[in-house]
Amino acid sequence: MKDTYKHKGLRQQLVTILKGKGITDANVLKAIGNVPRHLFMDSGFLDYAYKDMAFPIAADQTISQPYTVAFQTELLQVKKDDKILEIGTGSGYQAAVLCELGARVYSIERQQELFKKTNLFLPKLGYRAKKLIFGDGYKGLVEEAPFDSIIVTAGAPFVPKPLLSQLKIGGRLVIPVGEHTQVMTLIIRKDTKEFEQHEFGEFRFVPLLEDKN
Ligand code: SAH
Repeated sequence: MKDTYKHKGLRQQLVTILKGKGITDANVLKAIGNVPRHLFMDSGFLDYAYKDMAFPIAADQTISQPYTVAFQTELLQVKKDDKILEIGTGSGYQAAVLCELGARVYSIERQQELFKKTNLFLPKLGYRAKKLIFGDGYKGLVEEAPFDSIIVTAGAPFVPKPLLSQLKIGGRLVIPVGEHTQVMTLIIRKDTKEFEQHEFGEFRFVPLLEDKN
């Protein structure tokens, strides 16, 4: 588990690429510049770790493209100590970016293999999520609600109702919605029953599946 000057240099190049693609939040860019993405990928893909591309991880899942991670994180407008729920822990890379930003992170994964692997791996890098959960993200995490924000990192065919009800007033849900391709959607809870929705173009994610595996 090495993070060399070469890796650090490649990461700064990635940050420059993300700036070029329109990411402006300095804290988000700094977090991407700090998280050693190569360590979240299977060794065969090391050379590609700092290209702006998604890649396969275990259990037929993917680590999201850095641009997508940056874009979603920017929409969350993370403040230090925010209580954030992530649906789709996967490799733990997005969770690590949120930890870098000082958030209190809860993350749910439905694939047991990935849950176990990431639960052991993140603390080894010094990233201490508040809790990683093996379970079904469609239900959210009612026992820890409400959250300052919720981020879904798999393509959702619809917006699950429990996620809306687990947001604080003023809270933000960032969720890619759609079956084959997804529209990045930001929902802000304005009041108990009032939600404001914004849409931000098309992305492509692995599907949000029902129940655990
Ligand atoms: N955030 C991850 C991206 C992983 S891809 C990263 O940074 O690497 C999306 C993940 O969502 C997959 O690991 C998939 O198993 C998981 N997933 C799919 N449906 C889910 C559900 N209903 N609940 C929780 N996780 C789910």
